Amino acid sequence: MKILVAGGAGYIGSCCTEYLLDHGHEVVVFDALLNGHRAAVDERATFVHGNLQDAAAIDAALAAARPEGVIHFAAFIEVGESMTDPGKYFRNNVSCGLNLLEAAVRQGVRKIVFSSTAAVYGMPQTIPIPESEPTLPVNAYGESKLIFERILGWYERIHGLRYTALRYFNAAGATVRCGEDHNPESHLIPIVMQVAEGRRPQVTIYGHDYPTPDGTCIRDYIHVLDLAQAHLLALESDAVGCFNLGSGSGHSVRAVIDTVRAVTGRDLPVVEAARRAGDPPRLISDSSAARRVLGWAPRFDDLHAIVDSAWQWRQKHPHGYAR
Ligand code: UDP
Repeated sequence: MKILVAGGAGYIGSCCTEYLLDHGHEVVVFDALLNGHRAAVDERATFVHGNLQDAAAIDAALAAARPEGVIHFAAFIEVGESMTDPGKYFRNNVSCGLNLLEAAVRQGVRKIVFSSTAAVYGMPQTIPIPESEPTLPVNAYGESKLIFERILGWYERIHGLRYTALRYFNAAGATVRCGEDHNPESHLIPIVMQVAEGRRPQVTIYGHDYPTPDGTCIRDYIHVLDLAQAHLLALESDAVGCFNLGSGSGHSVRAVIDTVRAVTGRDLPVVEAARRAGDPPRLISDSSAARRVLGWAPRFDDLHAIVDSAWQWRQKHPHGYAR
């Protein structure tokens, strides 16, 4: 297949691009490099430097590439920032995404796969969370992704553009060449590794009085390569709709810190602090629909292996993608 990957210079987009190329597909990456890294884009991919806010630029890229499929990763992802600057999130994650959708329809794209998020569920009541759980986001980031899912439904109905929205739980880990390099970093595993590297003095645990066995939040960490596999299966499938992607196992913040300690063998000072606003106590995916309908079979079911892959990447890239 020929596939255009919007946002292919970001963390999950670059890992997915590498996976698609490894499986014999041709990839065009379209990325504005606002948060992504040019060096993260596999040399085998064609790179187009462009911003989805420029409708003509994405239209021209699709007209030139004529891909059968599009994967849409290009979005802002900081939950905290989305609550101070919601306009930035709705403008980019919704309006700019619309330019991609319009161009995809004009250029006869068969299928679009969209990066969605467990944040569409807000504070879910059912654990593990099925796709039928009510979608009640508690932050503007989750709302922006939910709005776009709903827009995809209308484009399918009106224009026949098939779509799959993949609701990721906590993406983690690295491939041999691609890893996580955000600036600023807000995600737990890379932050704990920065402490292991001596770049931060301590890990701050946000909340130690949650109704969980050790009092800290529980999350479902899923390896980026398992996410990548699901994107290819979704492109190949005629299935339309939304699917959860998680391992189905929950790990507390303390368990993640202990795992990083075991993998790195480094000392990790920890302090406890107040809860972070908007954090649900427990998010664990029921991904049985993705397994059943898409034939998804995640390979990493072990947090230690996920953390180990991230640590190996960081040791090879101590400054991330910066030279
Ligand atoms: N977390 C933490 N300290 C940090 C960063 C994150 O205790 O420095 C917690 C956070 O409150 C959440 C979990 O780790 O319960 C995972 O957070 P992350 O930002 O990685 O992902 P999220 O689940 O928010 O998408």
